[in-house]
Parts: sequence; structure tokens; C-alpha cells
Amino acid sequence: MIVMKFGGTSVEDAAAIERVAEIVRSRAADGPVVVVSAMARVTDQLLAAGKAAAAGDRDRALEFAASLRQRHLSAASELLPGTHFFNLQPALESNFKLLQDLLTGVATLHELSPRSTDCLLSFGELLSSEIVSAAFSVRGLASARVDSRECLLTDASYTKAAPLFGETGARLEARVRPLLAQQLIPVMGGFIGSTLDGVPTTIGRGGSDYSASIFGAALNAERIEIWTDVPGMMTTDPNLCSEARLIEEISFEEAAELASFGAKVLHPATLLPAIEKSIPVFVLNSRDAAGAGTCIRAHVPGNHHPVRAIAAKRHTTIVNVAGERGEIPRGFLREVLAVFDRHQCQVDIVASSQVRITLAVESDTAGPQLVADLERFAQVTSEPRQAIVSVVGENLRGRQGIAASIFGSVAAAGVNVRMISQGASEINITFVIREEDVPAAVRRLHSDLFADDQAVVHRMAASVPASRQQAVTEPVLQPEES
Ligand code: ADP
Ligand code: ASP
Ligand code: MG
Repeated sequence: MIVMKFGGTSVEDAAAIERVAEIVRSRAADGPVVVVSAMARVTDQLLAAGKAAAAGDRDRALEFAASLRQRHLSAASELLPGTHFFNLQPALESNFKLLQDLLTGVATLHELSPRSTDCLLSFGELLSSEIVSAAFSVRGLASARVDSRECLLTDASYTKAAPLFGETGARLEARVRPLLAQQLIPVMGGFIGSTLDGVPTTIGRGGSDYSASIFGAALNAERIEIWTDVPGMMTTDPNLCSEARLIEEISFEEAAELASFGAKVLHPATLLPAIEKSIPVFVLNSRDAAGAGTCIRAHVPGNHHPVRAIAAKRHTTIVNVAGERGEIPRGFLREVLAVFDRHQCQVDIVASSQVRITLAVESDTAGPQLVADLERFAQVTSEPRQAIVSVVGENLRGRQGIAASIFGSVAAAGVNVRMISQGASEINITFVIREEDVPAAVRRLHSDLFADDQAVVHRMAASVPASRQQAVTEPVLQPEES
């Protein structure tokens, strides 16, 4: 069996869902389990509705709900002829009724807790999976819609719940495996799950990729396909740099590094379950099903290029923490990290000197409460609106001259570097710049690192002493492995 995940733009309207049906038909013999995201922008709109309700603006919240209802019903009626549409309509309407009730409750209480947020967001994937499954059946693809809340079991960390792998595996065996045995195509919403008590949860924004990989690993899939709106994993975000190129093959390690440093095409945790079971993951374009896409697997043939790709992660804050007497006392680092841990604040980079520790963290998690906790024993300053840029490639290991080349490009783009990190993972060079500098830095880096392979290697060679140039240029002369 295989898992095929379709993202928001791949199910954004009736035409997109038609394309999905044809793609799934082309894989029907492989025993697909289909995982879908909410239709494009729906999760954002549900969140906006929740925020309006929490602010007491019930009418605005219900307007959002009405427009979501309209959009889903019109996609469903376009996809399903007469009676089929009428058969599905009650299931859709009962979800809209629940959504309205929830928003009304939030507006009455003026409170949107993480727990209610997850309940609210779950409607996106519940609705899209209903519609996609019905559209398949009408097109002769015998399918069964499965409620993912009954399959993906998680802890109760609402909005970023952690999967309970053992329970989830058992539920998938019980509910999904028998459908495959009956030659049915299970259609499931990604992103959503529930606690052992049945309370809806979500596993973090963009989490449908992760759901697909959890399901694929639990069911021992032959491969996991992530269908999206770009040709595959690319040398950088094509929406940032029009010169980005398709990467045909990439190792798990490199792709995981890119995903965790901002390559949104994959949720950061996606590859973990796949790596554990050594299941190849493909990234493919639902608008160009014949395209080669990207194959991500354990080992890929060597290539001579020093860099595989560049990622940028915005919404980063730099937090500077200094000891109160101008020096770092014993145990200070441990104490500082414990505060970040307590606030579930993800620390991406740490640098320390005699007098202070500087951390680059996700802005959303570095709230005033965290700063207040640090200020109990330290002096703290924060600098929001920063971004982490990572240059990733297995060939970076021990490659001389590459750092000079990278920072030369960033300087040539007129961009100031705030923090630098290499070493934690030998396959990336990571640095922090201002968020507004990301386009200039990434475009310049991309054009310098990828414009012409020979030129890159020669520039690197020029930046190291002549006696050592052989080490830099050598890999280019070697034939490609196969
Ligand atoms: P989906 O809705 O299918 O999950 P996402 O919007 O989450 O799609 O991810 C696809 C987007 O990821 C692309 O439109 C692209 O802008 C962005 N992206 C960032 N880095 C990369 C990269 N290295 N390769 C491809 N896409 C990337
Ligand atoms: N719909 C969810 C989101 O927008 C999950 C996903 O698309 O992967 O974050
Ligand atoms: Mg996504």
C-alpha cells in the first residue's frame, strides 16, 4: 500500500479535486490511503472566525462560517451529480451546525482556549475529507471516508499535540487495514486527531504531511507521496526565488534539515516516521502529475555540488540573556534553557560568550511570560522580526572555503549577519539576519551557489590557499556515483 497526501491548494476547489481523483486513479493498483488537508486558506479562516468570536464579534465570526459553508457546498455540488450531492449534504450541514454552535459559544464566553481552537480547526479537514471521498465514489473509485480523530491518537498538548504512536498504529490496523483488504480507498483528514478521551486535537500547522507519514509508517507503506503546488523539493522556495530548481533526489538527512529550517513544503516532523521505517517519500506536483518530483530516501548517489538547497525560516526572535553582574554564573545556561523548555519555546540556535547567551527562537513561543521568567535572574533583551537562513548539503562536511563563499554572497547583498551556527549538524551552515533581508540574501546566495556549478567551485577554490585547492576542486573531477 501507499499513502498519498494532498495539500490545501491540491483540494482547493472542484477542479483541483477532479485532478486529485485522476491522480489517485493512476495509483489505484498500489492500494492508496489518501490523506487530505483542509481546502486552501480554510484553516486560516477558521482561526480568524475564532478570533473574531473571542473578541465578542459574533456576527463577523458567523459571516466567516457562512462563507465557508458556501464554498464547501458549491465545490460539493459541482463535483457530485443530484442525488449524490443530496446524500452528502446532511453530513456537511451537521458540521456547519456544530461550527456555528462552537463560534456562538466562543463569542458568549469571549474565550478561545487551545482546546476549543483544535475543535474549531478540525472542521477544515473533516469537511474536505467528506467531499473528496464522495467525489471519488462518484468517479468509480470505491472509497471510504475515515474519521482521523478516531485513528490519530495524541496527547493533550492542544494545537501542537504529540502523536501516541502505539495507539495510533493499533487504530489504523483496526479501522484502515480492513478497508484496504476490501479494495476500498480510505480517505482521511490530515492534521487532526484526538486524545484517548476523544477530545479533538491538532498536531501543528502544516501537520497533514506529518499525518501522512505517521499513517505510512504505521501501515508499512511502500512509499509516501506528498502532492503539493510546486514541482517538488527545490533548491530554495520558488516563491522567493524564481531561479529555484527541482531537486530530483535528496537524502532524508538533508531534507529533514531543510524542513526544520523553514522549507515549508514539508512539515518539520514529516520525515521522522519515514526514516524509522526507511520508507521513501516523494514530493510531487498535483498540477503536473507527470512531473518527476523529488525522491527523498536514506541514501542518494553523490553529486559534486557543495550545496543541496537554501531554506529560510521567518518569525524568529533573538533573545539576549545576560548575567546580572556582567558575567555568567555557574549553572546559568542550564537555568536559562530550563525556562525555554518550561514555556515549550523551541530554541533553534544558541551562542554564548563570557557575559551573555544569545538564542534564536520561534517568535510565537517567545512571549512576555517567558521574558518575565528570565528576568527573575537575568537581564533580557529581545529582537523580533529576524529570520534563520540555512545552507544545507551533505557535501558541506569538511568542505573548505564554503563558509567564506556563503558569507561573501550575503555581504555582497548588503545584508548584515547577526548570528552564525555550524557544527551542530555538519550538513548545514546557518545564520540569522533581519526578516526583511531574506529575499535579497536568499536570491544572491542562490545565484552565487547555483548559477553555474563550475563557477561555484572555482570561487570556493579561490578563497583557500593554492596548496589546498585540490581538496576543493577534486570532487568535481570524479565521475558521478550511480
Ligand atoms: P500544501 O498546502 O500542499 O501543504 P504548502 O504551502 O504547505 O503546501 O507547501 C508548499 C510551499 O512550500 C510552496 O508553495 C513553496 O512556496 C514552499 N517552499 C518553501 N521552501 C521550498 C522548497 N525548498 N521547495 C519547494 N517548495 C518550498
Ligand atoms: N490545514 C492545516 C493547516 O493549514 C494542516 C495542513 O494544511 O497541513 O495548517
Ligand atoms: Mg503544507
